[in-house]
Amino acid sequence: MKKIAIIGGGAAGYFVAANIGKELGSSTVIFEQANLPLQKVRVSGGGRCNVSNACFDPNELVEFYPRGKKELRSVFNAFQPGDTMGWFEDRGVALKIEEDNRIFPQSNSSMTIVECLMKEVEKNGVEVNFSEGVLSIKKSGEGFEIETKKQTYFFEKVIVTTGSTPKFWKNLKALGLDIVEPVPSLFTFNCKDPRIEGLMGISFDQAEVAIPKAKLEAEGALLITHWGFSGPAVLRLSAWGALVLHKEGYGFSIKINFVQQSKEEVLDLLFSKKMNDAKKHIHKYNPFDFPKRFWISLLNYVGIKESMVYADLSKKHLEQLAGELTEGVYAIKGKSTFKDEFVTAGGVDLKSINFQTMQAKALPNLYFAGEVLNIDAITGGFNFQACWSEGYLIAQNLRQKFE
Ligand SMILES: Cc1cc2nc3c(=O)[nH]c(=O)nc-3n(C[C@H](O)[C@H](O)[C@H](O)COP(=O)(O)OP(=O)(O)OC[C@H]3O[C@@H](n4cnc5c(N)ncnc54)[C@H](O)[C@@H]3O)c2cc1C
Repeated sequence: MKKIAIIGGGAAGYFVAANIGKELGSSTVIFEQANLPLQKVRVSGGGRCNVSNACFDPNELVEFYPRGKKELRSVFNAFQPGDTMGWFEDRGVALKIEEDNRIFPQSNSSMTIVECLMKEVEKNGVEVNFSEGVLSIKKSGEGFEIETKKQTYFFEKVIVTTGSTPKFWKNLKALGLDIVEPVPSLFTFNCKDPRIEGLMGISFDQAEVAIPKAKLEAEGALLITHWGFSGPAVLRLSAWGALVLHKEGYGFSIKINFVQQSKEEVLDLLFSKKMNDAKKHIHKYNPFDFPKRFWISLLNYVGIKESMVYADLSKKHLEQLAGELTEGVYAIKGKSTFKDEFVTAGGVDLKSINFQTMQAKALPNLYFAGEVLNIDAITGGFNFQACWSEGYLIAQNLRQKFE
């Protein structure tokens, strides 16, 4: 009779099974409702699978998790991105670190990761029951009764790795677990504004974006898209502000500094242009390091005509232009999904979990890993890293208990 059930054959579930060893593997079943495993891994990272991030210090790593920051520190102390790299490389998967620290397989194909995980699970002799979704789970003595459409089973230990779909949550609530209701995280900001109209594709290497009402700020690349604003700075704000922006119905204002200088510094610069480049046409001479099209758009917005030279700039023009460059306010109305890479905040309340073992505090022998927990990160390989680290910890704990 099998002892261990893993509910959900995604990244987290497969990583538990891949680390469980042969002895326990032969006593383990994965229940997966779909007819193939690891579907999100397949499509992840635009088909390349951003497996992790080269941030090797757990204290720094946790800063990328708006939810889970405190709890994950001990989990990353047990298994961090360096361990992930070692784990895959020991199994023949060559990895590479890209300039922005994201880690991908050298093959640039997520299938390399999928195949590696499937092989390890098979090597451990874990049974995988495809197209067998778990309908309910109930406590039964020291273990749990699991019902699928095929039959009812009993297991001593159950690992829940059902991902972010709330469908399974009613079962968890019935077991007495607290659930934080889902809200989207990682999205881009919709904005219709004459200053950015027709400018999609223009990017700023380092912008400062703030949501004053939520007291949130982020720095990083900023991109003007068809719908509004995207890029790392916006995605970071969307993750850290997930709850409050949801409450606001995704209607709020952002303030952007496009030039990484204070308003006073920009005023000084523009004033010196007025004195030293007096005869130069402003529309033609953009003193900043961003595309001319945005410069012209801002000039038109503040009423600086194409015929004007720097000498024609009034004090009001200078003030307005410096304001637009350093504290431009944009109204955001709504959000869009980032490259289909939707991540949800919400899930099993972290207060219910013992992060030394990933077991529910009130329900020993019931373990959780992956997006079913109220943990999420910004984009960059961090969401998978949480799955690998939590999954590894569970496998270690089970091995200690049984072996
Ligand atoms: C398009 C896209 C791209 C992404 N790219 C990246 C990336 O490059 N890097 C990164 O770090 N993160 C990425 N993410 C996020 C990452 O994919 C998730 O954080 C991760 O897959 C979560 O893993 P999981 O095992 O918790 O859940 P999932 O991968 O969602 O797996 C859960 C599994 O459980 C099954 N299941 C659910 N309910 C039941 C049930 N009742 N019975 C049986 N089975 C059930 C589901 O069918 C599924 O197979 C991406 C997400 C998306 C959507």
